[in-house]
Amino acid sequence: MRAEQPRRHLLGVDDLTRDDAYRILDTARALERSLDREVKKLPTLRGRLVLNLFYESSTRTLSSFELAAKRLSADTMTLRASGSSVDKGESLRDTALTLAAYDPDVIVIRHPHIGAPHFVAAATQALVVNAGDGKHQHPTQALLDLFTIREALGRLEDVRVAIVGDVLHSRVARSLVEGLRLVGASPLVVAPPTLVPRGIEGMGCEVSHRIDAIGDADVVYVLRMQQERMAAAYVPSLREYTSLYGITPERVRPGQVVMHPGPMNRGVEIDPRVADSGASLITTQVRAGLVVRMAVLYDLLTAPGLHVAQPVLEVA
Ligand code: ASP
Repeated sequence: MRAEQPRRHLLGVDDLTRDDAYRILDTARALERSLDREVKKLPTLRGRLVLNLFYESSTRTLSSFELAAKRLSADTMTLRASGSSVDKGESLRDTALTLAAYDPDVIVIRHPHIGAPHFVAAATQALVVNAGDGKHQHPTQALLDLFTIREALGRLEDVRVAIVGDVLHSRVARSLVEGLRLVGASPLVVAPPTLVPRGIEGMGCEVSHRIDAIGDADVVYVLRMQQERMAAAYVPSLREYTSLYGITPERVRPGQVVMHPGPMNRGVEIDPRVADSGASLITTQVRAGLVVRMAVLYDLLTAPGLHVAQPVLEVA
């Protein structure tokens, strides 16, 4: 049995202080060096178990958490909702308790319902990382985006980031706005009125409904049109959305960088000529996802108060 110990989770960006965010970004930078070595595995989390519980589809988040755990020598197991007992109607509580019997150190969970990760955190002894809950939060995406921006622009303070598109259904946007505020950057949301959540200004960002507002930004952050979460028609047509808000080469000013969390709807919210241009940081974001998730696992599992014999961060 594990002794009583203080537990920290990463359920939302508001679990992080500014110092936490910078420490994780610095750790990720150190870990990135380990990816240049011939042998890429570090012994840091040997004997630990990281369990990925994914109730929604994922490419980048799941693959990077799996690889992150492996690169740190943890054992890792992945359970997807389809093909498991979830298909047979098992409740989240029963699934969580079943998996808790394996005594995982970390459970990484993605779920369509807001608050599911908080529920698992209360129901098990594991440290829980929210890998996306409905349209609520996706804190590791925010951290990897901050990492990408800092590496590309050399700073975060006062960086202007225009977040363009379907903010209403986007956990990425919510987490990113909070993350940018945490590190002293300036978020601006640019979207048609129907795709802006009410009260988002209260999170500390400006809002514009005009695409030319992106002209002042250092970073143009493009969001996917999340048609699977749209119960009604939020825009007259995708074609009209694209003509008013799609990010084309003509709309990107020299010196700006462009980001997108993936998966992209090429030709809808982003023109392929922009996605594949020198201004695009989209593949850099994917690489950042790996090192930032390694840093998050490292940070959670080597926190003061947790019993790690000798935390090793050997990247020399
Ligand atoms: N991959 C991101 C997420 O899971 C963004 C998206 O799906 O549009 O939230």
